[in-house]
Amino acid sequence: MHVSELSAVPEWLPEHLGGEGIEELYPPQADAVDAGVTEGESLVASVPTASGKTLIAELAMTASVARGGKALYIVPLRALAGEKRAEFETFEQYGLTVGVSTGNYDSDGEWLATCDIIVATSEKVDSLVRNDAPWIDQLSCVVSDEVHLVDDGHRGPTLEVTLAKLRQRNPGLQTVALSATIGNPEILADWLDAELVDSTWRPIDLKKGVHFGQAIHLEDGEQHELGVRDGEKPTAAIVRDTLDDEGSTLVFVNSRRNAEAEARRLTSTVEGALTADERDRLADIAAEIRDVSDTETSSDLANAVEEGAAFHHAGLASDHRELVEEAFRDRLLKVVSATPTLAAGVNTPSRRVVVRDWRRYSGEAGGMEPLSVLEVHQMCGRAGRPGLDPYGESLLLAKSHDELDELFDRYIWTEPEPVRSKLAAEPALRTHLLATVASGFAGSRSGLLEFLDRTLYATQTDEGGRLERVMDSMLDYLVANDFLERDGDDLTATSLGHTVSRLYLDPMSAAEIVDGLEHADERPTALGLFHLVSRTPDMYELYLRSGDREEYTMIAHEHETEMLGSVPSEFEERWDDWLSALKTASMLDDWASELDESTITDRYGIGPGDLRGKVDTAEWLLSAAERLAGELGLEWAPAVREARTRVAHGIRTELIDLAGVRGVGRKRARRLFENGIEGRADLRDAEKSVVLGALRGRTKTAENVLENVGRSDPSMTDVEPAGSVAVAGDGSDENDQSSLGEF
Ligand code: ADP
Repeated sequence: MHVSELSAVPEWLPEHLGGEGIEELYPPQADAVDAGVTEGESLVASVPTASGKTLIAELAMTASVARGGKALYIVPLRALAGEKRAEFETFEQYGLTVGVSTGNYDSDGEWLATCDIIVATSEKVDSLVRNDAPWIDQLSCVVSDEVHLVDDGHRGPTLEVTLAKLRQRNPGLQTVALSATIGNPEILADWLDAELVDSTWRPIDLKKGVHFGQAIHLEDGEQHELGVRDGEKPTAAIVRDTLDDEGSTLVFVNSRRNAEAEARRLTSTVEGALTADERDRLADIAAEIRDVSDTETSSDLANAVEEGAAFHHAGLASDHRELVEEAFRDRLLKVVSATPTLAAGVNTPSRRVVVRDWRRYSGEAGGMEPLSVLEVHQMCGRAGRPGLDPYGESLLLAKSHDELDELFDRYIWTEPEPVRSKLAAEPALRTHLLATVASGFAGSRSGLLEFLDRTLYATQTDEGGRLERVMDSMLDYLVANDFLERDGDDLTATSLGHTVSRLYLDPMSAAEIVDGLEHADERPTALGLFHLVSRTPDMYELYLRSGDREEYTMIAHEHETEMLGSVPSEFEERWDDWLSALKTASMLDDWASELDESTITDRYGIGPGDLRGKVDTAEWLLSAAERLAGELGLEWAPAVREARTRVAHGIRTELIDLAGVRGVGRKRARRLFENGIEGRADLRDAEKSVVLGALRGRTKTAENVLENVGRSDPSMTDVEPAGSVAVAGDGSDENDQSSLGEF
């Protein structure tokens, strides 16, 4: 089907697509159009990675907007929201408006009412529904990207419940669900009352296989020699062989640390193949990477990039990730070693893919676990660049004949698993039952059962009794903790229950926080509050490493009086969790005591992106704690607010006033303070030369800061900096504001 034959889409679309090099629809896209996706039909598209799912969504959304509607695109990862927005923003030249909803979970995102296309994560959409965002009723089309993630035990239930709510609120809603190839797409179509496009078509051939010994064995029975030299690893041999053909390789490994180590190792394989021009361009990119932040991860990445290799994982800052992806697409980087996050939607095709590790550590299983077929196939699907390569090749690695056979059986000749709803898990139901009652989707036990009947779980199970049993025990919990009130069959949310639902807290987190604050006899310390929020199920705790147990047991005894709520004994089962929370709390306390970012990432063995994540979560949980304290009339709200501000900026108490000024982060605030400027009032009256000196002679920065603090004449013309100023141009102030805001 040629794009000019499309009906029901906006007039400008065919020409726009032509400009992007899209003339003929790919077969699954044509099938989607035949199924009515441009005319408002709901659709499930189960299509391989990199086969043009985004365009199916774009056809549906633009057609829906052209009919006067409004579209919502649900992304699986926050990191992908920006990328999708950038793609959809190309429609703004035709008068469409595009908005991304990220940020706090407790607002109703009113401004989004004016957007035609909204991009958000499922968690964000869930929270917007809870907060009664008025535009939800105006939605005419919702797209769910990577909908097979309803299978994810952690985040799947939110997606499932959110889609069910959107469809209940708006019975005419068009639902377009995009999925990787899965074993049971018909059940998704059944659940969503949608047409199904189930295809294995790909724009470029993909050959999967296994490397063993000195050869690769492909699924079609072909074998090629691919020799491994003495002392060489198979991965390096494959990368070298691909380079001989001027191709690049994507290597998937099972941990961040392995991704970093593999990139470092592979530099020796790729470095010799770089041209002088490539070297220069890579050096520029390395410099940009170093500018993003001054941590060890950042400099390790820059060092590898200079030599033509890189690593990619969720612990990287998003600017780092973008620089790596772009350089790989430009074929400057010859190899990228990645954790599976990269497979989940970022567009980085490569000639070859190596799935180096097919097992991964699982905390729940307490050991190594094989990856799912679905995950391995998604990684494999990144191989082959349409129009550039004759075909893509993805290889697993075997060390023995037996392993060769096992890998063929397990991954090459096997279909991906069916997806299964995880809604009947307790934490998921606890959260969603409260929210469903609080936001008016159900007002009784029987109403809840009716609502749950709209979920994938109900479509999929013939064991209805199980969900009902878990539901009843969760309702007991919610009533016992004053989140819900029960009167016969009727259920209503208490005022506390409403607050918890709007704050997007797990009710168990809220119960823990309320308990801790109610039992505090004196003003809680920051460490005590950091520990309180770190032990809620909403904070992903740091792991205890060997030796940590003793260290944190000592810290626990030293700070026992600061801890809120009852301290477990060392012999109780929850002791380990409690210590992990203390480790997380200590990290937050270090950050709020102005320790350097790189000292912290070293001390706790984490990446800068992890620190950012923990700080964000702590800030959110502490603002929720402040609201709960207010709601319950507890006197500790100011102490909570102080801890929140300190962790948000990474500062000690005395800098709170200064750090609130835009353009003044933790480091600048500290230097102003050291120069006798202790607050906003001081800043408004201070000698300009002192301000300029404290800000290392940066005129523009100083003017901005003075303007932001409300000084009437912020100009620094003819002002000389007082005191000793670092030599201009030495770059020392470049990363000065490495308050985490820049990640
Ligand atoms: P998926 O979401 O299925 O992983 P994408 O939507 O990212 O895949 O598409 C992969 C690439 O294919 C994109 O670069 C896109 O521009 C391109 N593409 C999609 N449809 C067509 C088409 N009909 N003709 C040519 N290129 C296309």
